[in-house]
Amino acid sequence: MTSNLSDRMNRYLRADVQGMHGYAVQPSAGLVKVDTMENPFRLPPELRRALGERLAEVALNRYPAERGDLLRDALARHAQMPEGCSLMLGNGSDELISLLTLAADLPGNVVLAPVPGFVMYEMSAKLQGLGFVGVPTTADFQLDGPAMLAAVREHRPAIIYLAYPNNPTANLWDDGVIDAIIEAAPGLVVMDEAYQPFASRDSLDRLKRHEHVLLMRTMSKFGLAGVRIGYLIGRTALIRELDKLRPPFNVSVLNCEAALFALEHVQEYAKQAATIRAERAKLFDALAALPGVHPFPSEANMILVRVPDAARLFAGMKARGVLVKNVSGLHPLIANCLRITVGTPEENPQILAALRGALEELH
Ligand code: PMP
Repeated sequence: MTSNLSDRMNRYLRADVQGMHGYAVQPSAGLVKVDTMENPFRLPPELRRALGERLAEVALNRYPAERGDLLRDALARHAQMPEGCSLMLGNGSDELISLLTLAADLPGNVVLAPVPGFVMYEMSAKLQGLGFVGVPTTADFQLDGPAMLAAVREHRPAIIYLAYPNNPTANLWDDGVIDAIIEAAPGLVVMDEAYQPFASRDSLDRLKRHEHVLLMRTMSKFGLAGVRIGYLIGRTALIRELDKLRPPFNVSVLNCEAALFALEHVQEYAKQAATIRAERAKLFDALAALPGVHPFPSEANMILVRVPDAARLFAGMKARGVLVKNVSGLHPLIANCLRITVGTPEENPQILAALRGALEELH
């Protein structure tokens, strides 16, 4: 039976896919979960009840066309979408990354991004049969301008992704270097602003200035990671073409309604983001005070820290009930680095205590 199935798989499923690792999701039950940059706050109980009532009224027997239109309009207002642009919805920005790759699927095309970076740029390119060019950042995680420009000239990428702020390094890039890359880009440049609620700058002006720039955002880090809403803003003519690749009704009515509700209570989420930014500053200082721990400056809701032994400290923190992400294996530039999502004012002392305990165990 098994060999029969593996024969079928070998004959009819892609060998490269069978050789790949899937997107890793760590089990987190019972742990302080600070591994995936979620907003740790929920809505207050009275708003949760109001949301429940709203969701109860949604017509589940209908396809989500009308709710999707309302959500696109609400997000366009929320993001201050410029004149001449349109907005496309994705089931998370992960889906938008896949659709962009599908759109660029011509023989020889490549996707380019700085590394270490968000793993889905490379994964989706490879799944689609496109090449991926990862250009290492400098040791302090800035864009290597000359190397990026040389790679753009050499590989003529169909799509360049610039996560702004970057994941997992949490920093913004130098704006002059970004602009030089945009000038040199032969294809599209996607400014991936998943962490925009926590950053001091964004790319709205850049989008206005350049018609080959797309702005990608998500409601995930804002506070709706479970709802799966990403969006892409670009010139109407470009979005019209990309939108043809979107599976019809890709975002459910329940997701649309929950997102509409969240946008009606944007002040609540703005307060949460402000708390997270303030907690980030405190967590950064406390991490910097630990022996052998070096946190890197953050414009996102995560802090990358270099530690003496990431594998043992990851395990030691987990044994103390705190789940972080050991990103050491992703790229040599982040060897011995842990990525810690900023938690609640109650969780952050627990994170620090777990790291302190794990550090003491090293000796
Ligand atoms: N872009 C970046 C830079 C990310 O870090 C992530 C998720 N961690 C995403 C996009 C995907 O977000 P989502 O699919 O939840 O919208």
